[in-house]
Amino acid sequence: MIPTSGSYRLANVRLHRSLTPDLAAAFDQDGFALADITVADGKIADLAPHGRAVAQPDAIDLAGRIVLPCFVDCHTHIDKGHIWPRKPNPDGTFMGALNATGADRAARWSAEDVARRMDFSLRSAYAHGTKALRTHLDSVPPQEEISWPVFETMREKWRGRIDLQAACLLGIEGVRDKAWFERLAKRVAVAKGVLGVVTYMVPDLEELLDQVFAQAIEHGLDLDFHADETDDVAAISLKKIAEASLWNSFEGNILVGHCCSLARQPDLEVLDTLDKVAKARLAVVSLPMCNLYLQDRRNNGTTPRWRGVTLLHEMKARGIKVAVASDNTRDPFYAYGDLDMLEVYRMATRILHFDHPVGDWPRAVAATPAEVMRLDGAGTLAAGGSADFIVFKGRNWTELLSRPESDRIVVREGRAIERQLPDYAELDELMVG
Ligand SMILES: [Zn+2]
Repeated sequence: MIPTSGSYRLANVRLHRSLTPDLAAAFDQDGFALADITVADGKIADLAPHGRAVAQPDAIDLAGRIVLPCFVDCHTHIDKGHIWPRKPNPDGTFMGALNATGADRAARWSAEDVARRMDFSLRSAYAHGTKALRTHLDSVPPQEEISWPVFETMREKWRGRIDLQAACLLGIEGVRDKAWFERLAKRVAVAKGVLGVVTYMVPDLEELLDQVFAQAIEHGLDLDFHADETDDVAAISLKKIAEASLWNSFEGNILVGHCCSLARQPDLEVLDTLDKVAKARLAVVSLPMCNLYLQDRRNNGTTPRWRGVTLLHEMKARGIKVAVASDNTRDPFYAYGDLDMLEVYRMATRILHFDHPVGDWPRAVAATPAEVMRLDGAGTLAAGGSADFIVFKGRNWTELLSRPESDRIVVREGRAIERQLPDYAELDELMVG
């Protein structure tokens, strides 16, 4: 249906206001407007309200199908992905996940093992329509020396298809070994990566955060935290990160993931934290599928009563940048998933109520993570931009979000890509033993 070369026009497509900043059209109450997209030489030559551009007799009429820009997935763990068959989570808890993953990493994460699982993950993400992805890389010794070179190779291999970023991942207690952490920060800087840690309420948290910020400033790195992935109301490291950022006058981008405990804390405490997060210009990413899986799992015969996600509505109302992302896929932190950002958006809509009204929530899987990741031109559709978009069957939100849309068409630089998902059997030999 999409021509393989030259220029063409897709007429009568449905575009969303939140992802087409330059389109001056009459949008309906769901945020959609009918439009015509003209593609030439891999770029969007023109984006106009339907019927407004000079008629083109061979235009392809898409009859009101939704077209979205390609997705941006800003929080994943493709170094962990797909180990589930050889290392399941014994009880579905966070501690179960941490211990199982640590054991598997120590025993099995050779460069070849990591590379093959990463490539599998990237092929899935690409087929589903993702064009940029940030992964965390477990960087506790000696894994950092194995995984960072693999990442650098993978980033080259995927250049032009998926814009790949990486952030190091270690518990904040690892920062206490100052000399080692300084070496790690230098290694991350050489790879043009992002400096990341997992914060816990350790007694010396503020001092350790200062060291993290000092290294980020020294090497000009952006920051990416895992914070408060727990129901413990005493977990307030999101606030501590905001305070440390203000205290250190940090000017780079900061993305904070999870922040689950915030949803359990008393209102006054929450308001104070959100004020500081807004003031420090932190961005927050929620990981709804992983949170739903791990949080409020008590293994005592009771039913979960909490959704696990953080306070995205309250954050967005204060101007805090908010995103949702995939997080883990088929590993002890989440038994399922396939790096399909439409699935993430569909689940987020249900878990986090991204509806009635939808407003500008679609930005959370495209434009906002692109800003956080400093990706110019990604996450929106505009004349002059790359013709990277996804054509769905759905013509409205209920059609789009009720079926998996497995037959979506992914267009990259003007051409429909081959959307073959990798076969699980490819990984079988990595799962034995
Ligand atoms: Zn994560």
